[in-house]
Amino acid sequence: MERFKLFKPGDRVAVAVSGGKDSLTLLYLLSKYRDQLGVELVAVLVDEGISGYREYKRFTAEKYARAWGVELRIASFKERFGFTLDEAVFALMMEGLSVKPCSVCGVLRRYLLNRTALEVGADKLATAHNLDDEAQAFLMNAIQANLTAFSREGIADTKAHELLVPRVKPLYFAPEKEVMAYALLNSIESPYVECPYIVYSMRNVVRRWLNYVELEDPLVKYRVLASKELLAGVYKEAGEFKLCKLCGMPSSGDLCKACEVSEEVRRIYKLKRS
Ligand code: SF4
Repeated sequence: MERFKLFKPGDRVAVAVSGGKDSLTLLYLLSKYRDQLGVELVAVLVDEGISGYREYKRFTAEKYARAWGVELRIASFKERFGFTLDEAVFALMMEGLSVKPCSVCGVLRRYLLNRTALEVGADKLATAHNLDDEAQAFLMNAIQANLTAFSREGIADTKAHELLVPRVKPLYFAPEKEVMAYALLNSIESPYVECPYIVYSMRNVVRRWLNYVELEDPLVKYRVLASKELLAGVYKEAGEFKLCKLCGMPSSGDLCKACEVSEEVRRIYKLKRS
């Protein structure tokens, strides 16, 4: 955090928590060092509406935020977009599931985290992405030839627009196993429930493959990250924004990705119910 100057004294930091061990560890660390860092914290949780999963993780996040004296704000898909992720997946299944649940979830969650961070007046949005997450994301982007994504997924964003809260990733270089060990040693517990949609996720496949390669090559994830850092300087995004015609948030097209996705889900969902 110091080396990359992720925070400066006086920063108000929104901490994205899911209720899993990584984000709870991040919240624990930031609450432990908040005075030393001179930052003020508010935790932000997105409730996607995934039954059998989200309620357990939400309860856990509420419990720890209370214990560590951090205010927790909750933003839900249902309130903001009018449907839960379960309802969106139902609609998508009726259309043959050509769009995967994680694609919808990822776009809408990213949008809600940013909006909520803006609403609480945050200067930074801290997320718990660790070394494994970053290596997986790099490989997934490479598979999809999404090369410009490399430049926007580093350890810290620069402020690209006044309506986009810069993201920082304090666990960027920490392997998942070390985060898990740290959580265990500090009695941070999260119920072992997995999102039921993980089976549709390409990330899951890449994750298993990387863990397999790691058995032969213990440094592979660091090398993947190093490749990402090198390429981030080569492939740049245009960095020009319009404002979304529906919600007024920064967007590369007439509609932002979240409005595009949520409009489509609402259209299919209404059709299927009527
Ligand atoms: Fe969302 Fe996919 Fe993660 Fe489930 S596995 S919470 S659908 S991103």
